[in-house]
Amino acid sequence: MAHPRLDTKAEMPPSGEGKSRGPGPDRVEGSPSSGEAPAQDEAPPALVCRACGTAISREDAVFSAAEGGAVGVYANPGGWLRRVVTVRWAENLRLVGEPTEEFTWFPGFAWRVAECGGCGQHLGWRYDAAGAGAAFYGLLVAAVARG
Ligand SMILES: [Zn+2]
Repeated sequence: MAHPRLDTKAEMPPSGEGKSRGPGPDRVEGSPSSGEAPAQDEAPPALVCRACGTAISREDAVFSAAEGGAVGVYANPGGWLRRVVTVRWAENLRLVGEPTEEFTWFPGFAWRVAECGGCGQHLGWRYDAAGAGAAFYGLLVAAVARG
């Protein structure tokens, strides 16, 4: 078969169109921005639901609610010991029931069960100060992970 040859010089040079490219302006390529760019991924790791990965809080929200530090071990009325980390804020939680001070681990704070908004796993409790409007959360160490 007589294929048309493909290696012939183009008979119609592109007219006009090629101009738009031109000699580009000097590209700044890989030039460090004067070295003053700090690492931007310094955000503390998130605390996520261990079961489904929903973001619940962040490590910089961890604080010491009790004298023992941010992580305390508390006993339920039934005798269960729970390791709890206290955080100033949390999100994506579903609060269950009405606040109560019964058996509270933090005097003056009423608690409610907080479940994961993603999967319903029990992740901890929300603590509301009586009247003052202050609140914090206690998260079950066993139920959260670093995201
Ligand atoms: Zn979950």
